Amino acid sequence: MAGLSPERLAEVKDRLLSRKRNLWLEVKDQLKSSIGDGYQEMLATARDEEDQATVSLMAETSLTLLGPKRQELEAIEEALQRLETGTYGLCEVCSQPIQPKRLEIMPEAPFCRDCASQREKLAKATGR
Ligand SMILES: [Zn+2]
Repeated sequence: MAGLSPERLAEVKDRLLSRKRNLWLEVKDQLKSSIGDGYQEMLATARDEEDQATVSLMAETSLTLLGPKRQELEAIEEALQRLETGTYGLCEVCSQPIQPKRLEIMPEAPFCRDCASQREKLAKATGR
């Protein structure tokens, strides 16, 4: 399984979870100050198990200022899912192990370095 020890995987999970918690706090703050009263109440009561609902709420509101954070949250969520299914550390495009250095810096990285830069080039070329 990508050569990651159970200890290392547990450590990654911890890092992802605490990063996720911090991001949530930031996102909730931002949402509070940028959208109306209706959402404020909902966000105030949002708990961890309701995160998914809040993610779709954010998708619906499509607040561009939340873009990067929302993407990071989604990436973290996906990384946690890959931890569960045992595919963590493998590139989603080429299925090769992602460079350990890269995972060190960006534990939620879904792609290896080559595929990531490929995608970046592609994104630039298509103007997205
Ligand atoms: Zn790859």
